[in-house]
Amino acid sequence: MKYVYLFGCNKTDGNASLRNLLGGKGANLAEMARMGIPVPPGFTISTEVCDIYNSSDKSYPAEVKSQVEMALAAVEEAVNAKFGNEQNPLLVSVRSGARISMPGMMDTILNLGLNDATVRGLAKQTGDGRFAYRSYQGLIKMYGNVALGIDRPILDEIVNRKKQEKGITLDTELTAEDLKEITDGLEAKIREVASSEFPQDIKQQLWQAISAVFESWNTPRAVDYRNINKIPHDWGTAVNVQAMVFGNMGDDSGTGVIFSRNPATGEEGLFGEFLLNAQGEDIVAGIRTPQDIGALARALPQCYRELNDISRKLEQHFKDMQDTEFTIQKGKLWILQTRTGKRTAQAAIKIAIDMTRERLIEKTQALQRIEPTQIEQVLHATVDPNADKEVIAKGLAASPGTASGKILFDPDEAVELAKGNGDFILVRDETSADDIRGINAARGILTTRGGVTSHAAVVARGMGKCAIVGCKDILINREKEEFTADNRIFAKGDIITLDGSTGEVFIGEVPTIPPRVSDELKELIVWEDSTKSLRVMANADSAADAKLARSFGAEGIGLCRTEHMFFEISRIDHFRRAILAEGKEEKRAALAELLPLQKADFIGILREMEGLPVTIRLLDPPLHEFLPPHYDKQQLRSLAERLGMPFEKLEEKVLQLREFNPMLGHRGCRLGITSPELYEMQVRAIMEATYELIAQGTDALPSIMLPLIADVEELKLLKELVVNTCEQVRKEKQAAEVIPPLGIMIEVPRAALIAAELAKLVDFFSFGTNDLTQMTFGISRDDGRTFVPLYLEKGIFENDPFASLDKTGVGELIKLAFERGKKANPQLKVGICGEHGGDPESIKFFHQLGLDSVSCSPYRVPVARLAASQTALEIRV
Ligand code: ADP
Ligand code: MG
Ligand code: MG
Repeated sequence: MKYVYLFGCNKTDGNASLRNLLGGKGANLAEMARMGIPVPPGFTISTEVCDIYNSSDKSYPAEVKSQVEMALAAVEEAVNAKFGNEQNPLLVSVRSGARISMPGMMDTILNLGLNDATVRGLAKQTGDGRFAYRSYQGLIKMYGNVALGIDRPILDEIVNRKKQEKGITLDTELTAEDLKEITDGLEAKIREVASSEFPQDIKQQLWQAISAVFESWNTPRAVDYRNINKIPHDWGTAVNVQAMVFGNMGDDSGTGVIFSRNPATGEEGLFGEFLLNAQGEDIVAGIRTPQDIGALARALPQCYRELNDISRKLEQHFKDMQDTEFTIQKGKLWILQTRTGKRTAQAAIKIAIDMTRERLIEKTQALQRIEPTQIEQVLHATVDPNADKEVIAKGLAASPGTASGKILFDPDEAVELAKGNGDFILVRDETSADDIRGINAARGILTTRGGVTSHAAVVARGMGKCAIVGCKDILINREKEEFTADNRIFAKGDIITLDGSTGEVFIGEVPTIPPRVSDELKELIVWEDSTKSLRVMANADSAADAKLARSFGAEGIGLCRTEHMFFEISRIDHFRRAILAEGKEEKRAALAELLPLQKADFIGILREMEGLPVTIRLLDPPLHEFLPPHYDKQQLRSLAERLGMPFEKLEEKVLQLREFNPMLGHRGCRLGITSPELYEMQVRAIMEATYELIAQGTDALPSIMLPLIADVEELKLLKELVVNTCEQVRKEKQAAEVIPPLGIMIEVPRAALIAAELAKLVDFFSFGTNDLTQMTFGISRDDGRTFVPLYLEKGIFENDPFASLDKTGVGELIKLAFERGKKANPQLKVGICGEHGGDPESIKFFHQLGLDSVSCSPYRVPVARLAASQTALEIRV
């Protein structure tokens, strides 16, 4: 069995493709050595050994010992030094390196091979006692900390005491003699606090360090990290043992990190920083401020040129932006690590597009390089990173973007205030369906409870509104209308700013930078169109949203909810009159007031979406949502006054409309059955708008959709209503007939089961995956918040079914309904609308099933488009 792989010695065993076996670091070190890039020689012990070591009683297969011995000899030969030799000692680093880089694993140990004897040899050999003892001091500290588990401050204390004793502040002022005393002090301290001591036996140093790396795979931090990121526990880490190079040998030495392009913006050109006369960790430790890499061109021009060439060569070779570590020892450049660089969404898009222009990668590859969940970031105004700001609390980043405004606690007050300028942040423990108008009116939402699929989060994302949820740092006092955070009190009216991308809450108004659809994003949209087959539409309820969605690449509106139009302050009372009307005539009269308003909405939306389909859903929510709650006497009284209605009568009506379980109550198409006038008005508004636009030469393409259908007779009745109303409007308009496609939402399991019957009567199905999930599980999304988190924790649910589609259950219903529907009506178009339409995992499922379209909130459109493209590309190969 081969367990140990050489790199940069007389030969190199590994290469980049052996990532699983050698870890990312080891595989790329081998690849670089093969490319002729200067890499300090070393060897990698494979991830297989990690598994064997950890699953046995912490022992190694016999071959590992002998293979390490042989590899060490090869390194000795390559650098012409000997491990443990007192005149010419070889020093090595021991570095961890898993398949993917994993913060939370073991730190690197540098300068292994030094002991009380070899340190003297090193001093003599380099003629620099300070350097030798500083290196030794570094080793003992790292070893004590990493391999023996001693807290860093305990060891730092020894160094600090020496400095105090001498009355100096800088490490550089310590003499060789001081440093020697420090190393003695460190060794004594370790003997005192740990069960073992710092080994003078260098072989023992090496093996203990190697074992520490393998054991670090199972530290609680590492295990947690893998659980959170869904990384298998059996991958294991590799260990890299590598000859040391030193960046701290004077002003012709140094160390740094470079990116082959700017990871924040994607701009071309070398990006990075360095420190002269420093070792690797000095950069991260932040004690000295590094210099911009450009300054290296002046300090060590030859090295800068070489570094620039290598960076470019690495990028050409790996065909992606590289993040590379280097060290310069006495004017000689060494590369210590290279990997694919992490980047912002903006940079990811720019780099992908630039690289195809440079013919480095194909468009199809470029499309697969961008992370769909990340792309959303580029579409929101963002907090200006350079602005002065003070964080008072941090919660879950639920809906990206940023918002500033006055603190407000009462959603109804929010609605009232929205008539003014609406510049406020709604702060609640949690939100419910009743708060929807308040949420709609606010600039941003901040809740103290709930997760990222909580009501507030879902609604806010749907509205493209910034939200922070589950912000436990804040304690609300409803009575006093204030909250406490950061030991301070913030009252109603105080101004705060939310950053929905980080979850941070700031004091006062923080300046922002606006979003824009960049040229790169526009180009991406064109590429996606040429690859994907799934149509991506948007859920949009207003002309403004429609316009936004279209600019983000929406290919139509898959769900236009009509209820939000009624919530608007200027119309809600008209609608309330209609709800409260006694007879048919009174109801008709109230609805007639709404007709022109609703028609104007449709004209706006259909015009924005000219040439693209707009699916309009007739009214869906239970009527009581439009009225004040029965217990709010004050609001009821003022409403009664405004409507000129006796208070008692209003109260009685409101009580009548109360339901035990509104989600399963008088809502959806049931409203159309009980109040046909309402649906007639809506259909009329749609058709009048359409004929008017067509007369003006605008290509208006409405579809009409009925919510919550559960029975064939229900559908027959409503279809008749729609057809008759359309016919009536046509007669009045005396224009060429327009027949809007008619469809239904499949959101009740029964509708899925009888899909064959339903499909014969309609042109399309749209799965309302939110309701369908609720009804299939029998879990209301909002009430689920009290136990779904526990279900996730216990592993009962792998994912939150409201965030990522439950393929086994809900997905099966969708599949069944799709197949039965298509069989009964081959012309049937099938899509989905709901949160899942913007979830890449779910999109993949819908694509594979063969659906025609998905529809999601405007801000998720770019996510969905990219996911649809990637899925199509994946299937093609
Ligand atoms: P991480 O994975 O945490 O980045 P590394 O293994 O890359 O850890 O090492 C940490 C630091 O030590 C880096 O700055 C690296 O450049 C430096 N380093 C590691 N091995 C050597 C070596 N053989 N010679 C010089 N510096 C080294
Ligand atoms: Mg590193
Ligand atoms: Mg629904």
